[in-house]
Amino acid sequence: MKQKILITGGAGFIGSHLSERLLDEGHDVLCVDNYFTGTKANIAHLMENQQFELMRHDVTFPLYVEVDQIYNMACPASPVHYQYDPVQTTKTSVHGAINMLGLAKRVKARIFQASTSEVYGDPAVHPQTENYFGNVNPVGPRSCYDEGKRCAETLFFDYYREHQLRIKVARIFNTYGPRMHPNDGRVVSNFIVQALQNENITIYGDGSQTRSFCYVDNLIDGLIKLMESGDDFTGPVNIGNPNEFTIKELAEKIIEMTQSTSKLIYKSLPENDPVRRQPDITLAKKILGWEPSIELEEGLTHTINYFSDIPSSQDLDTKPERIEKYFQKSVSESA
Ligand code: NAD
Ligand code: UDP
Repeated sequence: MKQKILITGGAGFIGSHLSERLLDEGHDVLCVDNYFTGTKANIAHLMENQQFELMRHDVTFPLYVEVDQIYNMACPASPVHYQYDPVQTTKTSVHGAINMLGLAKRVKARIFQASTSEVYGDPAVHPQTENYFGNVNPVGPRSCYDEGKRCAETLFFDYYREHQLRIKVARIFNTYGPRMHPNDGRVVSNFIVQALQNENITIYGDGSQTRSFCYVDNLIDGLIKLMESGDDFTGPVNIGNPNEFTIKELAEKIIEMTQSTSKLIYKSLPENDPVRRQPDITLAKKILGWEPSIELEEGLTHTINYFSDIPSSQDLDTKPERIEKYFQKSVSESA
């Protein structure tokens, strides 16, 4: 049935793919964004669609609209950007959740929260299952993001218990694909941009830390399946690809695929950078019938093609001051 769907952070990387998919399925989409990391370019191709509406708004302020479903995606996801204004990052997760939950309560909407594998911190359990409570530093440079997202989960479950809200919480693991911002700062986009320009590939630490990368199309399938699942299933549920790679392996693969002459260079490992990360997706398979199908090489091919094709004329607000701050505070030349 056609739904009126609000997507906060809809102009971001994942939000723009979600907007596109939900429009394709015939829904009305209201995209709300303050463009902190998202861009109008990400959703420019949707503007002609009569069922798409765009609103500039910061979710730390209340929002009064009438909708059937809410996907709460608003929050910078890259360490470079979420550490630039850490107080605003926590406010976005916490005040944003309170405002969106208040809205869901008033209009009786089903509400989805984009939580994260970061709630597990630097995990002592591997792979990570949903019943693991995590190992998070509450006072480090990543805490504004990790603790903000943990508190948002708490709020979602308190609204569920206290007000019987229909909530859906996904813990999203590292996701990549077209429309990541070239200066987003996350590893896949950094390495591809560096490789395409034959520049040094910046490995933080010795590159032995691992991540498990999910292609964005697979992720979107999982998020929608979760939203459409029965009211009795709230999550939290891990959504990610369990195929685990070291960061060095990722760099070597991208160099090979782009036939780049880039060399690997080593920088210091940012504080509290998780050593290993891999989702256990047993729950998602069992309840949602979801599992990823796109292997790293295939997903990287699409992503490399995207970055190769970005017109140099495209107005990319690259926000160099954020990258500079991150390098001053977190990443320095390796000893
Ligand atoms: P992104 O930075 O591309 O998108 C975030 C969007 O939220 C941007 O459009 C940004 O402008 C917007 N935003 C930020 N603060 C806002 C505010 N106060 N009010 C309104 N809009 C605001 O990141 P993404 O990768 O698309 O991530 C989307 C969501 O998924 C985030 O909540 C993120 O924490 C979560 N997530 C992403 C990943 C990943 O690997 N991409 C992993 C785990 C969780
Ligand atoms: N990383 C790296 N070089 C870069 C960017 C990131 O070696 O240019 C590392 C980073 O230290 C981390 C991993 O890649 O170990 C994933 O980083 P990202 O910021 O993409 O995501 P997160 O750490 O939040 O999982």
